[in-house]
Amino acid sequence: MKPSEDREAGVQTPVKFLKGIGEVRSRWLAKLGVKTILDLLELFPRTYIQRVMNTPIAEFRIGQQVAFTAQICWVDKRMTKKNQPQINIGISDGVSAMVCTWFKFYPGLEEQLKPGAMAWFSGNMSEYQNMLQLIHPEFELLEEEQESDFWKERPILPVYPLSGNLTQKIIRNAVLQAFSQYAQKLDDNLPDDIIQKHRFEQRKNALQMMHFATKPEIIDRVRNRFAYEELFYQQLMWARHNIFHQKEITGITFVNKKQLTRKMYDKLPFQLTKAQKRVIREIFEDMTSGKQMSRLLQGDVGSGKTIVTLFAILLAVENGFQAAFMAPTEILAEQHYRNICQLIEAAGLGQSEQLEEGPSGDKTSTDASLRWNDGLKVCLLKGGQYKGKKELKEQIACGGINLIIGTHALLQEDVVFQNLGFVAVDEQHRFGVEQRAKLGKRKPHPDMLYLSATPIPRSLAMTVYGDLEVSILDELPPNRKPVNTFVRSSAKLDIVWLEISKELKKGRQVYIVCPLIEESEKSDLLSAETLYNHVKSKVFPAYLTSLLHGRMKAADKEAIMHAFKQGMVKILVSTTVIEVGVDVPNATVMLIEHAERFGLAQLHQLRGRVGRGADQSYCYLIEHQPISAIGRERLATMTSTTDGFVIAEKDLELRGPGEFFGTEQSGLPRFRFANLIRDQHLLKLARNDAFDLIGKDFAFSLPEHAMVQKQFLTLYGKKETLMMY
Ligand code: ADP
Ligand code: MG
Repeated sequence: MKPSEDREAGVQTPVKFLKGIGEVRSRWLAKLGVKTILDLLELFPRTYIQRVMNTPIAEFRIGQQVAFTAQICWVDKRMTKKNQPQINIGISDGVSAMVCTWFKFYPGLEEQLKPGAMAWFSGNMSEYQNMLQLIHPEFELLEEEQESDFWKERPILPVYPLSGNLTQKIIRNAVLQAFSQYAQKLDDNLPDDIIQKHRFEQRKNALQMMHFATKPEIIDRVRNRFAYEELFYQQLMWARHNIFHQKEITGITFVNKKQLTRKMYDKLPFQLTKAQKRVIREIFEDMTSGKQMSRLLQGDVGSGKTIVTLFAILLAVENGFQAAFMAPTEILAEQHYRNICQLIEAAGLGQSEQLEEGPSGDKTSTDASLRWNDGLKVCLLKGGQYKGKKELKEQIACGGINLIIGTHALLQEDVVFQNLGFVAVDEQHRFGVEQRAKLGKRKPHPDMLYLSATPIPRSLAMTVYGDLEVSILDELPPNRKPVNTFVRSSAKLDIVWLEISKELKKGRQVYIVCPLIEESEKSDLLSAETLYNHVKSKVFPAYLTSLLHGRMKAADKEAIMHAFKQGMVKILVSTTVIEVGVDVPNATVMLIEHAERFGLAQLHQLRGRVGRGADQSYCYLIEHQPISAIGRERLATMTSTTDGFVIAEKDLELRGPGEFFGTEQSGLPRFRFANLIRDQHLLKLARNDAFDLIGKDFAFSLPEHAMVQKQFLTLYGKKETLMMY
C-alpha cells in the first residue's frame, strides 16, 4: 500500500471513536455534516471570540454588529407589565457599562448568568433609555471550570456551528483531540507549484490556523486558501469540459456567404448598435470555425438580442442547414415568429402568403429539398396536439422548413430535423442544464446560442456557465429613454391614476402587475382579479381593460396578448406571466402593486416591458406597509439605476448566490468559503490555474496530479459524466 492510502485510512475514522464523543454526540455531529475525523478537521468555525477586550463599549454605535468580551455586573429577572418574564443584565468592560435583555429565554438562563463572570457577547447594538443595549445577544461564558488548560490560554476562541445538545466545549475539545492525533496524516490537496505561486499556507498549517488562530488577521489569509481550493476544483470541471469539447466535438464549419445576411443587413429598419455588430462578429467567428459553438448571449431587456440571433440563423440557413429557435412560453415563441417573419418578409427573403397564415404555421411548402432561394420557410411549433402539426413535423423532417421557432415542443423525441445546424435558446435560464444540452447533442453537433436577459455578473457566469463563452450586449438601441421610476405608497394611488390617465389620453398602453390572481384567506395582498374589477369599473371605465393570468387557457392568454399588442386592449392587468420578453413598444406605463414583494431581477424584467419605443415611459412601484429593510433597499435600487448588471450585482448581494438562481438546476455549487462577489480575483486565479493544469495534463496522468485527481473525482466525478458528450 502506498503511504498516502495508509494515512488516509486514519482520517476516515468515524468521529464516535474520539474521547468524549460516542454514539449520541456523533449523531448530532452528523447533522452538521461531520462523520469522520477529516470532516471534523474541516469543520470551520462560524466565527471567533476574542478573549481580550478589544473595542471599548463606549465606542460602539447603534446599529453596529458587535462581538466583544465583558464582565457581568448584575442580573435582574422580573415580570413586565404584561406579566411576561424578562431578564436584564448589566455588563461592563471596566470603564463603561450597558445592558443585555432577554424577553424570551430557556429555563435556567438566569442561573448561568452569574455576576462576576466573563462572557463573550455578540449582536446588533441598539439603545434603550439612553443606554446601549443588546437584545437576545449570542453569548458564551468564558470561565467555565472544566475548560481545558489549552483553551483557557487561547487569546481567540473558535465558535463552531452547533446542533442538538452539542456545546462549544465539546466540539472544541474534539477538534483539539483530532488535530493532535491525526493532523500529521493530512496530505495537501493543492499541487505544490500552486501553493508556492500564491504563497498559500500548507493545508495542515492552514487548518491549524483556522482552529487555533492567535491573531484575527491570520483568519482572512487562511480563508482565502480554502476559498481558492473550492474554486479551483470547480474550474477544473469546466476546464475538462471545455478542453474535451474542443478536442472531441467537431462542429459545423459554416461559410460566411453573405447572401441572406447581407440582404437582411441592407433592409433592416434600423442601424445595428455597435454592441450588436460586435456580438454578431463574435458569433460568426465561432460558427465559421470547426468547433461547436456554446455561447451565452447576455443582454439587458430591450438590448436587441432577437435581431442578433436572426443573423446567426441566416448564416446557418444560407449554408443549407436548418435553424431552431426555442422559447420558454408560447407567447414568446409566437412573438419571435411574428417579428422574424416580418423582418424576413421586409428584406424580401420570404413569401408573404405563407407568413399571413398566422401562428399555427400549418400551411407549408411541399418542396422536399432544403432551399431558400425561392423564399425562406419559417414555422411555429407548439406543444400539444393540434391540426396540421403532423404535417408540420413531416416538413421539418424532410427539410421543407428552414427555421423552426417553438417551445419545449422542439425537444420532443418525435421532432426529427433533416439537418439541424444552429439552435438558439431564448431566456435560457428557464430551461434546465440537460434540456439546454439536448439539442446540442444531436449529430452533426449544431452550434448553440443561449440568450439571457437576466444579466449575470461575470464572476457568476464563470462558475455557473463555466462551459460557455460569453458575449455581452452592453448597449441599448439609441433613442431609448431610461424609464422614469417612482416608488409610491399605496395610500397615494389616486395621484398615480391621475398621472397614468395622461398617458392613456395620448393613446399609450398600460401594464398593471399584481403578485396574486385571487384574494386568498392567508394573505392580505391585493389580487389581480380585484384590481382588474376596480380599474375596469371605477378608475378607467372609458378604456378597454383585460385580465391575464397563468391559470387561463393558453388560447385565451394568446388572444388577450394579441389584442394588447394590436392596441385594442389599453390596460392589461396581470400576474407575472408577462414577465418574460413581451414586446409592445406602445406601452409606456408599468405599475407594480406590492412591489416590495418582488425580487430585484423580477422587478427589472417587469420594468423592461416598457421603455421599448421612443416615448418616455414610467414605472410606478406601489409599496404597502410594513416593508422590510431589504424590501426598501430593493426599491431604492430600482429608482437609482436601470442598468441590469448593476441590479444583478445588487440582487446577488442582497440574496446570496443560492437564492439568486432559485433552484439547484442551474448547477450552482454551494461554496463554504468562496464568495463570488468578494472573491472575484481568486476566481480568476483559480480559473487560469485550472485551465493550465488541464491543458497540460487532461487525464491527470502525471504523478504530481494523482492527489488532485482523487479529490476531483470525489467532488465532481458524478457531475462530469452527466455533462460530457
Ligand atoms: P431583447 O434583447 O430584450 O430580446 P428585442 O430583441 O426584443 O430585445 O428588441 C427590443 C426591441 O428593440 C425590438 O422592438 C427590436 O426591433 C428593437 N431593436 C433591436 N435592435 C435595434 C436597433 N439597433 N435600433 C433600434 N431598435 C432596435
Ligand atoms: Mg428577447
